[in-house]
This record gives sequence, structure tokens and C-alpha cells, in this order.
Amino acid sequence: MANPAHPYTNQRIGLATLHEKERAFGPPFRRMLGAEVVVAPKIDTDTLGTFSGEIPRKDELVETALLKAEMAFATLDVDCAIASEGSYGPIENVPLRSGGVEIMAFVDRKRGVRMVETMLTHRTNWRMWRFKPGDPLVPVAAKSLHFPDYGVFVMKNSDYSHPVKGLQTVDDIVSAVEREARGSDDGLALMIADMRAHRNPTRMKVLRALGSKLARRLARLCPKCGAPGFGHIESRRGLPCAGCGQPTHYVHFEIDGCHACGHAVARPRPDGRTTAPKLACQPCRQDPAAANR
Ligand SMILES: [Zn+2]
Ligand SMILES: [Zn+2]
Repeated sequence: MANPAHPYTNQRIGLATLHEKERAFGPPFRRMLGAEVVVAPKIDTDTLGTFSGEIPRKDELVETALLKAEMAFATLDVDCAIASEGSYGPIENVPLRSGGVEIMAFVDRKRGVRMVETMLTHRTNWRMWRFKPGDPLVPVAAKSLHFPDYGVFVMKNSDYSHPVKGLQTVDDIVSAVEREARGSDDGLALMIADMRAHRNPTRMKVLRALGSKLARRLARLCPKCGAPGFGHIESRRGLPCAGCGQPTHYVHFEIDGCHACGHAVARPRPDGRTTAPKLACQPCRQDPAAANR
């Protein structure tokens, strides 16, 4: 429930998106903060990077999401802005399974708050295939991506820089595969799920969950300076072993903090645990007798 004293109530929050992400972020920001998400006009977020066939590192995604959010300040007169970046691909060592990470950045340039929320997910239709011209499995692959409810990209396997977008029918896909495969150095076309939010309902759902997570976080104000976004910033390890009392890799306590003033508060583990099992302790595991001394 929106708190009427919250500094973002009735405020506009800028969003840099070309892919209708306001459908995902608008409702939770309205419900939890009473704020209105407004799409920044005339912004080309695609200049920040497009599909390259490689999965970017998480810190690259964080940096890009923050830069993207700040782009909203160029065309909107707002104090706050949001943006998101996602990356999907195969899960290592798990055949035929894929997953992704979504990063959402928030910037309040007036109060000096910059923060990100992250969500890992296995909910995705992400898949990719390579086809020769005339491969009869192309329509089957399109169907398994839930086309046409979900989008599909086709590109040369030797050059990912010009994906064919906006494919409307299975026949469009078949002829795009034909054409791109013939134009590719290795004679193969790459077919891949369109992960743009407005062409991927599953991704839109994940973004809605991430938007809720960020809005919930922003709803909490710093007890010291009143800035929005007070919450978990760190888990400190070193919970003492139940046998010998030495620190273990188990989380000892959690730290909540403010991104504006740096105020931080430690709180105990949510499960109330005050010691780690002896199995988590290297010395006790190697020398059980030591634990009884
Ligand atoms: Zn021990
Ligand atoms: Zn603070």
C-alpha cells in the first residue's frame, strides 16, 4: 500500500525503454509508491549494445542499466529514473535448459541514490538453433518458441550484427532462414528467441516481478536521512562453529543500509541461527576429536 508521506508519491519516474517496459514497471510503482512511470521520449537505448551472441558479465549489465536510466534525464524533467538490462542463455552443464539474469537500475539524482536490484530466473523460452537453407525443422522450432505470440530473430551465423526482426508469419521465418543462411560465410542461419520485452510475455512477467522487488525496496525510508531504498546491502560471513567456536563460511548477520547517507544497521540471521553445524567447519570435519576438546 502506498504511503502518502513517501517522497515519490505523485512524482514522475523516468524510464528509458524502446520495448514497452512501462507495462511491467508502471503497476508496481503506482501500487507501492503512488509514483507514475513515464517513458522518456526520443531515446535510443539500442545504442548501448545489442545482441552480440555473447553473454555479458553481470557488472557490464549493471553499468549499462545505470547509464540507460540516466539517459532519461536528457529528455525528461524528473529527479528519478529507472531502466533494466537482461541477459539470457544456456545454463552451463545442463543440456536443453536456459536461464537468465535481469538487472534493474534506479537513480535519484536529487537525493544521490543509485541502486540496482537483480533477479535470476529459469522462466524463459530462450532457445537458439542453426539451420541450413530449406531445413524442414524451421517451422517446428518457431512453434516451440511460441511464435507468433513470442517474437523470433533470424540472422547470419557468421555475422550477428543485422538480425532480421519483425517477422510476422512462419513463411517469413522460413524465407529469412533461407536468405540469411545463403548469405552467411558458413551457410548457416541462426534462429533465436526475440528477448525484447514487448515480444516476449515471459520476460515481461519476470520484469514485473523485478519492478515489484525494486518498488518494495524504495518504499522503505532510511531511518536517519529519510531517503528511499533502505534495505539489505551485505551478508557478513563467519557464523561461529557449534563445536569449536571458530568462524565458518555461514552468514553471521545481515546488514541493511542507505545508498544516500551510508547509514547501516546489522540484524541477526532471519532464521535465528547463532551457530553453524560442525560439518560446515573445516577443522571439526577433519578432526572430529577436536570438536569435543
Ligand atoms: Zn569447528
Ligand atoms: Zn540515509
